[in-house]
Amino acid sequence: MTATDAAAVLDIDLAAIAANWRALQQAHGGRPAAAVVKADAYGTGAEQVAPYLLAQGCRHFFTAHLSEALALRPLLPGAMLAALNGPVAGSEAEYAASGILPVLSAPDEVARWSELARAQGRVLPALLHIDTGMHRRGLSLAETQTLAATPGALDGIGLRYVMTHLASSEEPDNPENAAQLARFTAACALLPPAPRSVANSSALFLGPEFRSDLARPGVALYGGNPMPGQPNPMRPVVRLRARVLQVRDVAPGEGVGYNATWRAQRPSRIAIVGVGYADGYPRALSGCGTAHADGASFALVGRVSMDLSAFDVTDQPAIAPGAWLDLIGPDSKLETVAAQAGTIPYEILTRLGRRYARVWHG
Ligand SMILES: *Cc1c(COP(=O)(O)O)cnc(C)c1O
Repeated sequence: MTATDAAAVLDIDLAAIAANWRALQQAHGGRPAAAVVKADAYGTGAEQVAPYLLAQGCRHFFTAHLSEALALRPLLPGAMLAALNGPVAGSEAEYAASGILPVLSAPDEVARWSELARAQGRVLPALLHIDTGMHRRGLSLAETQTLAATPGALDGIGLRYVMTHLASSEEPDNPENAAQLARFTAACALLPPAPRSVANSSALFLGPEFRSDLARPGVALYGGNPMPGQPNPMRPVVRLRARVLQVRDVAPGEGVGYNATWRAQRPSRIAIVGVGYADGYPRALSGCGTAHADGASFALVGRVSMDLSAFDVTDQPAIAPGAWLDLIGPDSKLETVAAQAGTIPYEILTRLGRRYARVWHG
């Protein structure tokens, strides 16, 4: 797969993902933690990551879409695999036939799943999503009350977990966290007893009251900081190295890149790498990104193009064609790159380009 001319290599540390999963389970008081592997395991490769975590003992996996889960189903024998976005009308039979659990997230989704179970004459397992304040997916408290008051509404449904999702878990002082938990507890009291699932990555660090029967961490598995603004307790997982294609001399006054938004102030040496916004390297890094090599840092100059970016290596004569610059790595931290681009680590990870040569370690 790895072409000899790969413009950039994405190293993915599977052992670090496994260590992060174990640490998150620890943070969950030793209770189970699933792995959220949606969006190709946040860009790190779901078909590599999910079986690796299965071998490490992880038994619960979440994607967003049914199609993502279908691709993983044969790779995860014996594990629970559920699709968070909920079943689109007409997809129920495909869920049931493939052994993928829907996350029932609206009254009509519950009704159709129950109907299918009765038609097939068997109990069909599912998760039930309660909306406690995010107002994205999930049954409202009123809908939960109606469901609970309707005889037979849950017939045929094997409730594996009742779950909710916090809107502001990365803000430990936000009172909405406790308020959502209280609403969830109230909703669960209306329903038949079932295991519960609450915490995403950040919620695992909010305190023991946010523990449940199954945590659902995603970003922290992949090295994202679940506690923004505090030291990152997770092990870094991805390193993105770009090959220097060319180093050019640029005279004072000469511009680099589209519209010459950067001009040399001094005789400069500019390293060109074959990574651009088509690779998910954000155009927003134009004029403010940074790369690193051997402890030195290099400013991104001019605009990020579709397939190319430029860095000022004037002060580092050792940088020559064939050298490698870290775009994400020990010095170019994921969090810093995201902040420079005006976004969050989630978006940097999930957009990691298809053109990178991915190398899985571990
Ligand atoms: C994406 C997602 C998660 C994982 O969230 P992280 O913040 O990445 O840990 C958990 N639950 C739901 C419902 C999600 O959509």
